[in-house]
Amino acid sequence: MDKLVSLCKRRGFIFQSSEIYGGTGSVWDYGPLGVELKRNVKERWWNSMVRRDDVVGLDASILMNPRVWEASGHVGGFVDPLVDCRVCKGRFRADKLEDARCPQKPSKQPGQHDACQLTEPRQFNLMFKTFMGPLEESASTVYLRPETAQGIFVNFLNVQQSMRQKVPFGIAQIGKAFRNEITPGNFIFRTREFEQMEMQFFVEPGTDMEWFEKWKAARMQWHLDLGLSTERLKFHQHTAGELAHYARAAFDVTFDFGGTLGFQEIEGVHNRADFDLTQHQTFSGKKLEYFDQPNNKRYVPYVVETSVGADRVTLAILVNAYREEAVEGEDEGRVVLGIAPSLAPIKAAVFPLTKKDGQPEMARRIVDDLRTAMTVDYDEAGSIGKRYRRQDEVGTPFCVTIDPQSAGDDTVTVRERDSLAQERVSTSQLRAYLAARLV
Ligand code: ATP
Repeated sequence: MDKLVSLCKRRGFIFQSSEIYGGTGSVWDYGPLGVELKRNVKERWWNSMVRRDDVVGLDASILMNPRVWEASGHVGGFVDPLVDCRVCKGRFRADKLEDARCPQKPSKQPGQHDACQLTEPRQFNLMFKTFMGPLEESASTVYLRPETAQGIFVNFLNVQQSMRQKVPFGIAQIGKAFRNEITPGNFIFRTREFEQMEMQFFVEPGTDMEWFEKWKAARMQWHLDLGLSTERLKFHQHTAGELAHYARAAFDVTFDFGGTLGFQEIEGVHNRADFDLTQHQTFSGKKLEYFDQPNNKRYVPYVVETSVGADRVTLAILVNAYREEAVEGEDEGRVVLGIAPSLAPIKAAVFPLTKKDGQPEMARRIVDDLRTAMTVDYDEAGSIGKRYRRQDEVGTPFCVTIDPQSAGDDTVTVRERDSLAQERVSTSQLRAYLAARLV
């Protein structure tokens, strides 16, 4: 993880927020390459979830009527048990003590040093509060949403009626969520500001488990299609103790982040029954029912939810992709980000072999042509070997080199990141050649 964090900073993927002020607690900024990678992840999700007949998109606001969070149970119950140590002033989650380390030496679990004095656990609400309007009084308290899902539930009828949707159908959205986590950390794994990609699928009661199974399988397949390796992915079924009181079933897609983190949740697939819509009916006094006209039936739909973190998936992709390897015939090895070409921040890098004989000009023309179809980088600095290494490290799948032969026969060399294979391709075919391989 340390190597990855350093690469992410050095190569413009991810920076600590407000770094020149010493940073701020577990919030990160995506740099030029990170933002491209995360956008590709979000686009993949949107295309697979919304570009289908039975799901539509939504972009709800972050600030909502505070009653929403009373109805959803977050005001009363979105809490983690917090313990403090009176001696070292450390602060820990009481239910995750086994994962925590006390700042005293030697490193031990909090409570295991003789000197430790842990307080009784107290409940700590994870929602960020702010004020709406000019008065900082309790009447104007609003929350930064801790999940995007509630924006979907409160818009259920707006979407269903305006789009004349018939159950079963889903509503999907991507957006920021905020949680005042007690123990954030592990880079972008657990942060206080993050992005969720959530979909709520509304179904007739009684058909919910069938839909749950379908979405569970579809979501695992999505992660496999990103190129995450099969051995690093597995389901974790929530046990009776872990299951939220309203949930009928819940599975997490977990990914093996390696090291001390091991397998951790990256996505949750939940059967939430009619809990959310019924709660909002009660608190708002508005009926949130669906009328099934052909069958003359009226009911509150059940909900199957898929909820995945864009940042956590981005981290999984980076962890999965990072490798160091020896190169035949060279003393120095190389660092490669073996990201699937479709997700790579830069698709192709274009190099003139030398800075003369019209090679830079020809390279620039190729960059201009490719740029209309994909992200490209132009690099003329340093040896060709160094330029390859720079691109390998950020996961660029193809490097295109213009050499003395190029001007004569209008061909270039295309070098593939993983196999290192090189092929001569005519410039007129280059775009199509690359496009066919960016999957
Ligand atoms: P955890 O047990 O890790 O706190 P959770 O069960 O509270 O997660 P959900 O509420 O199900 O998480 O949120 C769905 C997804 O949102 C998670 O699978 C994860 O990818 C992402 N997510 C949740 N909290 C965070 C966070 N603090 N930082 C980054 N991503 C998060």
